[in-house]
This record gives sequence, C-alpha cells and structure tokens, in this order.
Amino acid sequence: MNIKHLYDNKKTVYSMEVFPPKKADSVETVYNTLYGLRGLPIDFISVTYGAGGSQVQKDKTAEIASLIKKEYGIEPLSHLTCVGSTKEDIKATLEKLKEIGVQNILALRGDMPAEGECEMAFPHASDLAAFIRECDPSFNVAGACYPECHVDAANLDEDIENLKKKVDAGVTHLTTQLFFDNEIFYSFREKVEKAGITVPIAAGIMPIVKKTQIERTVSMCGASIPTRFARIISKYADAPEALFQAGLSYTIDQITDLVANDARGVHLYTMNNVEVARKVTEATESLFKSVNKA
Ligand code: FAD
Repeated sequence: MNIKHLYDNKKTVYSMEVFPPKKADSVETVYNTLYGLRGLPIDFISVTYGAGGSQVQKDKTAEIASLIKKEYGIEPLSHLTCVGSTKEDIKATLEKLKEIGVQNILALRGDMPAEGECEMAFPHASDLAAFIRECDPSFNVAGACYPECHVDAANLDEDIENLKKKVDAGVTHLTTQLFFDNEIFYSFREKVEKAGITVPIAAGIMPIVKKTQIERTVSMCGASIPTRFARIISKYADAPEALFQAGLSYTIDQITDLVANDARGVHLYTMNNVEVARKVTEATESLFKSVNKA
C-alpha cells in the first residue's frame, strides 16, 4: 500500500521507527522489538538505513522492512541515503525493494562522515527522491524536515526553500526531526504552508526515559529543551523510575496536544524499546480513534 493513501484517508496517522542493530550478531533485538509491537494500532513502521554508520545497518534494512510487511501485515517505510552509496548501489537497492514488495521509501541525504571522503551518489535528498521516481514511478517517496532548521542550512527560510525542492521532486509526505516543544512545530508548519508546501507533515517524537538518552539525543539532533521539560529532567535525572514515568508522561502530553492541534501524523522514535512504545500507544490510542472515526 502506498503510505500517501493513509494520509489521504486519515486525519492523523500514527507511525513508528525501528533501527537495525550495529552488529550482525545482535540483529535479534529488532526482531524482538517487532514481535513486541504486534497487535498495536500502528499505521506504518519505518526502518532506518545505516543511521549508526555501520554496513550491517544498511544490509538489514530491506530485510526488516519485508518482515514488517509479510509477518506483521503493517506497511513498512524503508529509509535510504545517498551518503556512502553509488548510483549503482542505489539502483540495486531499489531492485531489491521492488522484488520483496516494499513500495515506500524515505529518501535521505544521510549524515556526512566526520572524517574523510565517501561515496555520494547525490548531493541532496531531493536528487535521490527524483532519481527513485525516475527509476520506478510506482515507489512512493517520503522525506525528512527540520522544525529547528537543518544544521547545514544558513537559516530556516533557506532550509524551507530547499524543502520545497524536495517536495517538487516528488516527495508526498514528510517526517520531522524530533522536537520537545510543540510550539516550534506549529510555527514551522505555518511557515512551510506559507512557502507553498502542502504535503502532510508527521511530528517526530522521542520519549526520553533514561539519563543516558538526554545528552546523546540533544547533542545529536540539536533539539531545544523547553523549561517545563528541563525542570523534569533535572528533578528526576538521578531517579531512574521517576525519570521513566515522567518522560513517558511528557511524551503522552506532547502527543495529546499534537492530535488536538490537527497534526497530520505522529511518528514515534521507539529506539527499539517495546515497553515504552506499547505504553505510549496504549495511552494515546483513543485520541487517534476519536479524530479518525469519521
Ligand atoms: P537534505 O534534504 O539533502 O538536506 C540537507 C541539507 O542540504 C539541508 O541543510 C538543506 O537545507 C540542504 N538542501 C537540501 N536540498 C537542497 C538542494 N536541492 N539544494 C541546496 N541545498 C539543499 N540518517 C541516516 O543515516 N539514516 C536514516 O535512516 C535516517 N533517518 C532519518 C529520518 C528522519 C525522519 C530524519 C529527520 C532524519 C534521518 N536521518 C537519517 C538523518 C539525516 O540523514 C540527516 O539529518 C542528514 O544530515 C540530512 O538528511 P536530509 O535527507 O534531510 O538531507
């Protein structure tokens, strides 16, 4: 199924992200995650591609996407990056995805390596999106966006101009980088609409439930921390059970507000944590039902 149809038919789509582990011998962890998520009302599940920089993470993406579709009957969204790949690599991946029945691709540039040169089939995700559509127009192509501005862009206006190029290249829906302040998302949504971008945008939400996640997540994605969340973190940082509960509550509040404010999608960055994904889904399921009931 084309994920665009989900957005055409639902007010607010609910999706999740999982990632292949870095090492081949721990690949079971993501299979366990998917098994643990079975039965939850999830519209689609996306699978990252080489996001931790390892080849294993690239090799496993298509296989995991295929499992999500065949074993669990949920539509997969397979991520694909231009960094670290040649055009031939990308063509081969597209052929493989086609062969195993994966129809939806999240086209990304990928993060540039900290040191040294690497293969780079295309300079931008928009070029990859156009290439995918050119190779096979039956693929549905999605893209990423950044409510707090992508780190390489001079400013948010420039980043949104570039986002428009991605949508013009054939991207039919977008997922945001994670954020903790919904007001930033609402302001971004308004600016994007003013720039003539009308495709659905899903809000990327990551529950912070462990102390180790705090610094790593914030330094990696540059998300700003609103005062209310900063107070929670500092109060419970050294009380693991309390932090787990407070982090979960914060995420549930964020989602409650997003659904009430007509977000077209909520995309949960699960970090392969079944317990958290289940608890968040069970606590918010009725919200999605209520807006999608018509
Ligand atoms: P682009 O859209 O190419 O943007 C990168 C920069 O180039 C921006 O500053 C933009 O303004 C500029 N730009 C874009 N298009 C043009 C253009 N046509 N002309 C001039 N400038 C332009 N990384 C992984 O390695 N694997 C993953 O699976 C993965 N999944 C992700 C999922 C989501 C939802 C998000 C938000 C990010 C994900 N990332 C992943 C991280 C992502 O690859 C990085 O953030 C990367 O730095 C940018 O990727 P992009 O596709 O947004 O790039």
